[in-house]
Amino acid sequence: MQTAKKIIIIGGGIGGAATALALHRVGFEPVVYERTKELREVGAGIALWANATHILKNLGLLEEALRVGYLTTNYQFNSQSGKELVNIPVDTFELPVIGIHRAELQSLITKGKGIAYCIQCEPEYGARVQEGLKQSQENVQ
Ligand SMILES: Cc1cc2nc3c(=O)[nH]c(=O)nc-3n(C[C@H](O)[C@H](O)[C@H](O)COP(=O)(O)OP(=O)(O)OC[C@H]3O[C@@H](n4cnc5c(N)ncnc54)[C@H](O)[C@@H]3O)c2cc1C
Repeated sequence: MQTAKKIIIIGGGIGGAATALALHRVGFEPVVYERTKELREVGAGIALWANATHILKNLGLLEEALRVGYLTTNYQFNSQSGKELVNIPVDTFELPVIGIHRAELQSLITKGKGIAYCIQCEPEYGARVQEGLKQSQENVQ
């Protein structure tokens, strides 16, 4: 029996876009609905810890993330006068920790080079899904 392959994802943030990409890789047809009208550069940098880079590795995007981001070896906090307060090495994990601009990360997971890009994975911007939906085992109303 043919199973339903279309999946609707509400929200094209990092979570929604990465989920869409992962589902597309295993044969689903995800469609992302995002209420903002266009993808804007939200915030500045984001630290991708080893759990996040593990996901990027599985998506085949780790090398590209390392190219556009910055390999982070230490977390160092200084006082206002410049005195080092704490310095934590973060290069001891199996996978790297990366500092990356949010826009670069979003671009990577929605339009990553070297991947079979699915147009349906591209968020449909300006589409707000009404709240108040009810989900049951059988359907969504
Ligand atoms: C200042 C700051 C710094 C951070 N730094 C880090 C960091 O260094 N490392 C780290 O791992 N995490 C960091 N985080 C946390 C990280 O940003 C979030 O965990 C992550 O962005 C969550 O992604 P998401 O896709 O789940 O949600 P979001 O990014 O919030 O995306 C949800 C999307 O859904 C859309 N949406 C919501 N409702 C609807 C609807 N009804 N219809 C259509 N669209 C809808 C929204 O417009 C939004 O675009 C930080 C967060 C903040 C605020």
